[in-house]
Amino acid sequence: MLRPTIGCEVHCELKTATKLFCGCKNEFGGEPNTHCCPICSGFPGTMPALNAKAVEYAVRAGLALGCNINRFSKWDRKNYFYPDLPKAWQTSQYDLPLCVGGAVEFEVNGEKKRVRLNRIHLEEDAGKLIHDGGESCVDYNRCGVPLIEIVTEPDMHSAEEVVAFLTELKSVLKYTGVSDVKMQEGSLRCDVNLSMAEDGAPLGTRTETKNLNSFRAVARSVAFEIRRQTEVLESGGIVEQETRRFDDNKGVGYAMRSKEDAHDYRYFPEPDIMPVTFTEADIQRIRSEIPELKGPRVKRYTEKLGLPPYDAQVLTADKAVSDLLDDVIALGCDAKKTSNFIMSEVLRLAKTDGSEDVELLIDAPRLAEIISMQAKGEINNLAAKQLLSAVWGTDASPRKRAEELNLLQSNDEGAIKAVFDKVLSDNPSQVADFLSGNDKLRGYFVGQVMRAAGGKANPKIVNELLDRLVKEHKK
Ligand SMILES: [Zn+2]
Repeated sequence: MLRPTIGCEVHCELKTATKLFCGCKNEFGGEPNTHCCPICSGFPGTMPALNAKAVEYAVRAGLALGCNINRFSKWDRKNYFYPDLPKAWQTSQYDLPLCVGGAVEFEVNGEKKRVRLNRIHLEEDAGKLIHDGGESCVDYNRCGVPLIEIVTEPDMHSAEEVVAFLTELKSVLKYTGVSDVKMQEGSLRCDVNLSMAEDGAPLGTRTETKNLNSFRAVARSVAFEIRRQTEVLESGGIVEQETRRFDDNKGVGYAMRSKEDAHDYRYFPEPDIMPVTFTEADIQRIRSEIPELKGPRVKRYTEKLGLPPYDAQVLTADKAVSDLLDDVIALGCDAKKTSNFIMSEVLRLAKTDGSEDVELLIDAPRLAEIISMQAKGEINNLAAKQLLSAVWGTDASPRKRAEELNLLQSNDEGAIKAVFDKVLSDNPSQVADFLSGNDKLRGYFVGQVMRAAGGKANPKIVNELLDRLVKEHKK
């Protein structure tokens, strides 16, 4: 049976303040060609200056992924002629990248998987071509943005594994703080290498599908390419080594050009940039700047906050969600209540939205306000859910919205007692039954009072009134 073998090259833009070799702003968007200078536009005679922060970020990502850091690393020119690259070469790293080895570990269907990394190197991003109405324009704002390329070994065998790998890799990169890993803005992009071969046979000829920028596109293009190569091979054909694109709208892949080998790029050493060397102390310092990663957070959540291991895993899958939990607890909310509310309500709304950036939809101070209003009995559980939906994706104040939506419940004991007394006098036989020891009627009375009070009575107070009734009866 034919079996797919898959490897990935993941490009991740680093969120430094400036570009890799010049002082231009590294920022997504902006009017075309406004974040450019003679250096990143490739003017002859300009000299690049290496951004030290970008090197540190690349090493930080490598350390978080278990790579070895080369103590001596150099720069090379990768030559190709295309309008998105004004110099006609990309400054990259060929034989001595910053990081080698490492791995990403994750689970697929309850089974542990480990994908080995071959290397991580630092390079500059290219510009962006925009095709519009028969014309092609080029925007160099992205040209020269620092990019790490993470190359895996061919350790994956299904679309599901590739998506699980990317999910975990994205999570680790976000925790390190070196990138905002936004696929929709192109700061994380993936090329997929795929070949088919009989089980146990040597690897087949591979194709490379370039520039996939969503998990969905990755999954669909892998499924497409497995089907396509299987059909070619089963009908006696041969798979061509080629570079391909995948059209996510149409759900089909197509050949772009025959795949280049490394020698096609005529790599040669970059004469304008000094090699980078590291001492042990340099590496130690960069290691000490890695923020708390997912593993230690899971440990802290289970050991210090007493959360169940499953909850700790779910809450740390996305750093933004985990940060939200930490920040809300720091604002004085109970850990267990906060984690339950985030697990059930915040993640449900995020999933309904299909949003990858929870931090843009609710912030810690407002979430803390909702949870503490609930804890103080100012709103009930249902109202807390309604209130979260009402402020979700806005900057509205929860308290103000609760007032507007009439969600605040009454803690006025006198008012609740009046309703309570009315319910008792309307239900004499149930009262007698309750007082003779049928405690199941407690829920009935709470329900009746809630209904009569329009859902606004604090059930805690109703229960206290029932307790008092029983106590007085026993006297
Ligand atoms: Zn520039």
